[in-house]
Amino acid sequence: MAEQKTHKVTLIPGDGIGPEVTQAVVRILEATGVKFEWERFAAGAEAFEIFGEYIPAALYESIERNKVALKGPVTTPVGGGFKSINVTLRKKFDLFANFRPIKNLPGLETKWPGVDLIIVRENTEGEYVGLEHEVVPGVVESIKVITDKGSTRIAKFAFDYARKHGRKKIHSIHKANIMKMSDGLFLRCARRVAEGFPDVLYGEHIIDNTCMQLVMNPFQYDTLLLENLYGDIVSDLCAGLVGGLGLVPGANLGHDCAIFEAVHGSAPDIAGQDIANPTALLQSAVLMLHHLNEEAAANKVQKAVETVYAERKTLTRDVGGHAGTSQFADAVLAAMG
Ligand code: ATP
Repeated sequence: MAEQKTHKVTLIPGDGIGPEVTQAVVRILEATGVKFEWERFAAGAEAFEIFGEYIPAALYESIERNKVALKGPVTTPVGGGFKSINVTLRKKFDLFANFRPIKNLPGLETKWPGVDLIIVRENTEGEYVGLEHEVVPGVVESIKVITDKGSTRIAKFAFDYARKHGRKKIHSIHKANIMKMSDGLFLRCARRVAEGFPDVLYGEHIIDNTCMQLVMNPFQYDTLLLENLYGDIVSDLCAGLVGGLGLVPGANLGHDCAIFEAVHGSAPDIAGQDIANPTALLQSAVLMLHHLNEEAAANKVQKAVETVYAERKTLTRDVGGHAGTSQFADAVLAAMG
């Protein structure tokens, strides 16, 4: 019998609720039978205290070597302080596609049962290029960068995904009536790519209208293709459709590397209390298992999560339960058998 492969994965527990939810997820992953070797690293303020660097060189090297990372949230201070670790890592490894599936879990009452959306967010450009400066006191310029290359490759990613996974429809979400040049370019690239995919319906909606439409009737959408900032905002809105930020997973994908992380941030308001919901990071880990071709383990974890939600006995507070982070993890482990 061939020896079982060991997956070397870079692990960034992060801060705030990061270490708690990461610990819960690692326990569950280790119980799948898949062999992991974790390379664990601090990042952000915690890393700065230890190494004098927000992202230690050894962390970059680890991701470069392993090509896969599982990451908890790392706080980005508002205003001054350091540059977002999340944005820096996405740029450094050219993780241009941010992939976020939005799906109801059983047992959770939400306004709309049966939501099944895919968000494809451009991850390296837009307002997130970090080009801001003060022109004169009281006047600040922030530069949004949209390129043909960046827009074309994210559109291609969305259409390839749709075709491969039988998704029927893609909408580009934009504000090209105001951002005529930048969003105009984004749309032109998406249209050009769409021409090569006659089997996938293509539409365009303005961002503000889309937010209203998503709340009123999310079923008119299937896959949403968005620039960086719009994708960030609409992801949180869509998380709200299925029960909140504690649930929605994400993957940052490039041609070479992948970093799996939840949509939510470090949630300092509930950190250190063993009450955070680890489902979002756990479902991100399920995406990682698929990425590693560990299909059986991915399905086993996903099924166990769905069982725990359907039973409604051991849910965390954000989704109406009373269980703690570790109790929820125990319930998932029990459901895995
Ligand atoms: P960022 O800008 O870093 O993405 P954010 O401003 O979106 O962060 P979060 O840290 O994600 O903010 O938290 C937003 C709200 O959602 C907070 O009230 C937080 O407690 C809640 N929340 C986020 N993640 C979870 C979770 N895993 N479990 C329970 N509640 C959560």
